[in-house]
Amino acid sequence: MGESAFREIPGVDEVLCEGRVTQLCEVLSREVVVTLVRRRLAEIREFIGSGGRAPSLEEMVDSIMAEARVLGSLSLQPVINATGVVLHTNLGRAPLSIEALRAAELASRGYSNLEFDLGSGRRGSRHDHVEHILCHLTGAEAALVVNNNASGVLLALTALARRKEVIISRGQAVEIGGGFRIPEVMRESGARLVEVGTTNCSYVEDYERAITPRTAVLLQVHSSNFKVTGFTHGVSLEELVELGRRHSISVLDDVGSGCLVDTTRFGLDPEPRVQNRISAGADLVFLSGDKLLGGPQAGIIVGRKELVGRLRKHPLARAVRIDKARIAALSVTLAHYLRGEALEKIPVLRFIATPLSEIEGRAERWARFLGGAAVVMPGESVIGGGSLPGGTLPTRVVAIRLSGKAGIESLARMLRRHTPPVIARVDKDALLLDPRTVFLEEDETLLAAVRRSLDSLAS
Ligand SMILES: *Cc1c(COP(=O)(O)O)cnc(C)c1O
Repeated sequence: MGESAFREIPGVDEVLCEGRVTQLCEVLSREVVVTLVRRRLAEIREFIGSGGRAPSLEEMVDSIMAEARVLGSLSLQPVINATGVVLHTNLGRAPLSIEALRAAELASRGYSNLEFDLGSGRRGSRHDHVEHILCHLTGAEAALVVNNNASGVLLALTALARRKEVIISRGQAVEIGGGFRIPEVMRESGARLVEVGTTNCSYVEDYERAITPRTAVLLQVHSSNFKVTGFTHGVSLEELVELGRRHSISVLDDVGSGCLVDTTRFGLDPEPRVQNRISAGADLVFLSGDKLLGGPQAGIIVGRKELVGRLRKHPLARAVRIDKARIAALSVTLAHYLRGEALEKIPVLRFIATPLSEIEGRAERWARFLGGAAVVMPGESVIGGGSLPGGTLPTRVVAIRLSGKAGIESLARMLRRHTPPVIARVDKDALLLDPRTVFLEEDETLLAAVRRSLDSLAS
């Protein structure tokens, strides 16, 4: 391979003078464009060195433009969730209330008294903004808020059980979606996991027999994403608390979803309610901010003052701390509960509480608008997101059938490529749209997207 191939490679300035590349410098900084050009030229040199042929200037610019497009486009964007999965982990779990959003915006736009005591003019604590209200809602003595529930559990096990033993039922040493595995968190915390009982059965005597002078914690983990049925026996929180008291061992309770309202009123299974876990005597209760609570991503820890104090002082607390925008959003979300307006204001709860008749009316309007291929059918909305395993609500979906599975897959793909993307459910030979998780103000956009996609598939 001769020198001539290398001589064909243009210089950086030559590429920069190319019309499309010059225009690119108006969208991206010149420095970034120069880097893209240099990198592409280096790749070409390497390609030629290994026996390849030099691309034309045109091709070179094409590939630079393609890379610039990826770089310049914002990847994270809002989508319309027509899946009916209320807490969809892949779609960002809980949407915030308008008021919570506004609070986050205000706290982020300017300065705030995040860690400043306006009374004394001295340093304050970011936790003060939510501790009172959390204590009031749950009946706990103290509260602490961290980055997410996984980090809350990690912080507590590190601060309270490092180089000590934590007893857990074998049936609860589980994985809760997204790679949160209790045994792994335990290992990272430096605590030693002592599993008792069997996968389906454990008794309080199993725990008692495993207690040693090194036992620091009895841990309960809610089975947020699976159900054990058939021949089973579990140990109640009350039994664990009684055992913990007798041996002066703390009882920690990871409820996961963190529900404050009674889920049975919507026809769902009972989900552990934080206030009941506190009154049952748990020393610390852990919950997520963005599951059934309906707030921002957060790990909420409520419980005994002395233990919460130890967590606050632990160096890891700084590493898992929560930011001001989410503290603002969380405090407003919690205020919705105090004001008795949670079911109307918090999207997750509003979606769960929407009467079937309302969903049916909307589905019928959608089907009428879409015509032909669309029919209303009974279906099930899923709660999802690591809460209420198997929890579903009866719903009405708009089902669109096209000839063949390929047609449905292309329709789903077109909807995903729409701006904003529309995410639907594909069930065998039908595309299903569930109004439950679609905001009212998204209706028109969604219908226009479906109509346009159907039209372009037909043509
Ligand atoms: C969801 C869940 C977690 C993890 O919570 P994140 O807020 O996602 O970190 C931990 N434990 C249980 C029981 C859960 O359900």
